Amino acid sequence: MSGIDTLPPLRQVIDDHGIAAKKSLGQNFLLDLNLTAKIARLAGDLSQCDVLEIGPGPGGLTRGLLAEGARRVLAIEKDSRCMPALAEIADAYPGKLEVINGDALDVDPLAHLTPPIRIAANLPYNVGTELLIRWLTPQEWPPFWSSLTLMFQKEVAERIVAQPGSKAYGRLALLAQWRTDARIVLHLPPEAFSPPPKVHSAVVHLTALPEPKYPADPKKLEQVVARAFNQRRKMLRAALKGMAPDIEDRLLASGIQPTDRAETVSLEQFCALSRNLSAG
Ligand code: SAM
Repeated sequence: MSGIDTLPPLRQVIDDHGIAAKKSLGQNFLLDLNLTAKIARLAGDLSQCDVLEIGPGPGGLTRGLLAEGARRVLAIEKDSRCMPALAEIADAYPGKLEVINGDALDVDPLAHLTPPIRIAANLPYNVGTELLIRWLTPQEWPPFWSSLTLMFQKEVAERIVAQPGSKAYGRLALLAQWRTDARIVLHLPPEAFSPPPKVHSAVVHLTALPEPKYPADPKKLEQVVARAFNQRRKMLRAALKGMAPDIEDRLLASGIQPTDRAETVSLEQFCALSRNLSAG
């Protein structure tokens, strides 16, 4: 028996249902239910929220979220081998857990959940960044979720919270910090997972701000930042040359030196430049 519920330990669940980890699905499972309950607590008060979980696998974090009192959980898992194990959890928490066997990139969570919605996941590395960018870049803000509590490779987590002047600073930092308060809340060594991955991991908690820190059109900001960091070693007057014939004047009007490189430019300056470029 585990400490958080009366279901079998995860190692037994994996053996009983033949869920040997598959590399192709990014499967590195968390087997310590105290740890999954801790991650669920880092997601905040769940009692008044629906929770979206991507990639529940054998259900360690799912069990943590439910034991911590989530109002409802929608878990989207691509691997059909995990369905019987997840059905056992649904039986133990009647009416609280809905499981979809599918690709998280194809499911509209709002068809299944009622706001306020928090998202919590030990993300499959192959879709993690794509999902994060999607959640951060809707045209309208605030988004459908109020917080994200996500496990990433440590290097990706550091890119999300990076400050100007550091090597990790770039597109992810700017998009995350423009519209959320983003913090690393937990570091985990490879041994926390089965099988252990080659890299360290970290949990990032992002809280959606009521409005972005500085005004800008999301598409324009994404475009400017993508171009600026695509050639991060170039001076901005060269990296952004194609964006406007008078790019040097526009950079200066936004408080940026044309000879600056992307990694020294602040979020506020990138937003000013996006507004200038949107103005035509
Ligand atoms: N949450 C479990 C845990 O913490 O032990 C498993 C985490 S494992 C890193 C990632 C999980 O995401 C795997 O179960 C994998 O099958 C699933 N997965 C991979 N790609 C997916 C996708 N596109 N949509 C939904 N689930 C996916």
